Amino acid sequence: MSTPAKRRHDAIAAIAAQRLPTPTIDPQQQTREVFGRNVFSLAIMRSSLTKDAYNSLLRTIKSNEPLDPNVADVVANAMKDWAIERGATHYCHWFLPLTGATAEKHDSFLVPTGDGQALLEFSGKMLIRGEPDASSFPSGGTRSTFEARGYTAWDATSPAFLMDGVNGKTLCIPTAFYSWDGTALDRKTPLLRSIAATNKQVIRMLRLFGKTMNSSGCTAGPEQEYFLIDRRFYYLRPDLINAGRTLFGARPPKGQEMEDHYFGSIKERVLAFMMDAERTLYELGIPIKTRHNEVAPGQFEIAPVFETINVAVDHNMLLMEVMKNTALKHGFKCLFHEKPFSGINGSGKHNNWSMCDENGNNLLEPGHTPHENAQFLTFLTAVIRGVHQWSKVLRASIATAGNDHRLGANEAPPAILSIYLGDKLTEVVNGLIAGKPEAGRGGGTIQLGISSLPPIPRDDSDRNRTSPFAFTGNKFEFRAVGSSQSIALPNTLLNVIIADALEGMADEIERELGSGTKLETAVQKVVQENLRKHQAILFNGDNYSAAWEQEATKRGLPNIKSSVDALKALADPDAKALFQRHGVFTPTEAEANYKIGLEAYIKTINIEAQLTADMARTSILPGSLQYQKNVAESLAATKQASGNADTSAADKTLRNVSTLTGRLVAAIDKLDEVRSKADHGNGDHYQHACVYRDQIVPAMNEVRSAADALELVVDDNYWPIPKYREMLFMC
Ligand code: ADP
Ligand code: MG
Repeated sequence: MSTPAKRRHDAIAAIAAQRLPTPTIDPQQQTREVFGRNVFSLAIMRSSLTKDAYNSLLRTIKSNEPLDPNVADVVANAMKDWAIERGATHYCHWFLPLTGATAEKHDSFLVPTGDGQALLEFSGKMLIRGEPDASSFPSGGTRSTFEARGYTAWDATSPAFLMDGVNGKTLCIPTAFYSWDGTALDRKTPLLRSIAATNKQVIRMLRLFGKTMNSSGCTAGPEQEYFLIDRRFYYLRPDLINAGRTLFGARPPKGQEMEDHYFGSIKERVLAFMMDAERTLYELGIPIKTRHNEVAPGQFEIAPVFETINVAVDHNMLLMEVMKNTALKHGFKCLFHEKPFSGINGSGKHNNWSMCDENGNNLLEPGHTPHENAQFLTFLTAVIRGVHQWSKVLRASIATAGNDHRLGANEAPPAILSIYLGDKLTEVVNGLIAGKPEAGRGGGTIQLGISSLPPIPRDDSDRNRTSPFAFTGNKFEFRAVGSSQSIALPNTLLNVIIADALEGMADEIERELGSGTKLETAVQKVVQENLRKHQAILFNGDNYSAAWEQEATKRGLPNIKSSVDALKALADPDAKALFQRHGVFTPTEAEANYKIGLEAYIKTINIEAQLTADMARTSILPGSLQYQKNVAESLAATKQASGNADTSAADKTLRNVSTLTGRLVAAIDKLDEVRSKADHGNGDHYQHACVYRDQIVPAMNEVRSAADALELVVDDNYWPIPKYREMLFMC
């Protein structure tokens, strides 16, 4: 019978014998030609719809006007023809439930005509609304199971697309998912609401600067980090299969200390995968721009050109899906977990974010004229105010069990939210705060609307990779987002806190104007006051240092290391009022999000704890005991063969291994014990989550610690699961 260790060695042999990949795409075909091929794009709509229908739809997309129901039928028909011509047999309402994943329910276009034949049908009604059963999706207590009805509503602002399958295509229609009373059951509904809220305040602020606009937008460009390991190793690791991360594994002799992977040349097999995935993403209209090796061995990054936030959110979900599927085709497993390997750099998702006006002008782009600069500094100040005032809300948006391994650990970025502005902009801000001549500016006072800004170099902002929220020349980069997370919630909460800050500042400016102050003076005053009040959030130094933790405490900045505590901010009365004021979450929805966050935490740790006990008991312990027996037998045999042979090696090894196996068993027992107690929570989500965090996680860590110590002494021929040094370096 093949032993686990044998299977491990077989995997290594197979990888070593692996031939170079054969091409899976036509390299002659220009990416330009395939781009958007699977998207029911604006261009396709323009050519397939009547002018009236197209213009009506365009108004809905650009200005959020309600959709004319007659137009829906016309669009549905064009969509159906387009999809069927390309081989689609089914359509699905594609949505983003609160699980953080995507969901889809497929329906055939086929309608029997009653005479043994069938028609293909797709109406406006089918396009606009679906009715999937909602009972098995998390609702955080907003819905009882008997009210199982959920609705999906077409989101015309994100384009429909064709999903390729081996045996056909499916037309996917991005939708919002909500319950019968309008309660959001998904991540898209609040996101759309938050976009509307920001829109409203941006338009209002721009009006103060003399610009009348009907719409504005938020943009996002998420840089996605991930790990690739050989699929053969993956299937030998139950922890990776079921928890997405390794729950065991001693540190490899070589980690990332040689710094030889970052931006290193990409291995051929990996590049073949990347190009294949990119091809599919191009077909889906996802504008992939960048690929490179990341810091850790086996770690990579893929990044698109930014898009409007709603589309960027959908595209990032699709990207993760495509990457996972394509990786399997290439014999890889793509890992999006925040910390698949302990002791090795984790993965994040740098969420680049900005706001733009209706013409696409970036509002965080420093301007060329003094007037533009005043506007830029106003929007910049709003971000500073929003993040300072609501840093707990932003922290809650990235609170997951997986992200806890990065935030709060001594690795980028810390749980303390602060903003990095770079030297030049800091000088400007300090000048504004002081209201007096700045040495760095050649002695001139900054007069908003009158003085021009010094040029703000872009690379100024990239030097500090330790900042969780950095200004990078013309956008902010929220770097604390977890790699496996949907960017919907972080962006929803980012939007709402900025909307709130903009509203507050617009109120203040209007108050000044009302008392006869000139615009420039009013803006100067409000910007100055706000910068003074919120400058505590600004920090250009090393975010990893212990000194910063102390300094941040002095400044009153929250340092919430654990997700369980971070999530609380979602249900805080102030936050609930904020969400309600801007129409993003009702108090019930906010409470539901809080509970769902805690439930997800509990479930994640519970799965990990069970797996830890399981793998330790049924795989690591037996492997180690086999070895122990082997050593014991060897010891006995040696003694028997010669009474005065030196048995110290076997003796010492046996003692060492048996001490560790003893420790392992004791740790497993302890884990079982705390788990059996924790399973009887008293119904309070927070208390329950605390038990998992404070008792179960430490008990798991103890099991791991004993197992990892065993890995370093047990004969390699008995070790049952692939080791770090194998998974990270062999692909
Ligand atoms: P970095 O130095 O962080 O790699 P890049 O210029 O490569 O910076 O941009 C990283 C990401 O930021 C890309 O996805 C890019 O499209 C995105 N980005 C650029 N401008 C904006 C913007 N105005 N709004 C949102 N994202 C943006
Ligand atoms: Mg970046």
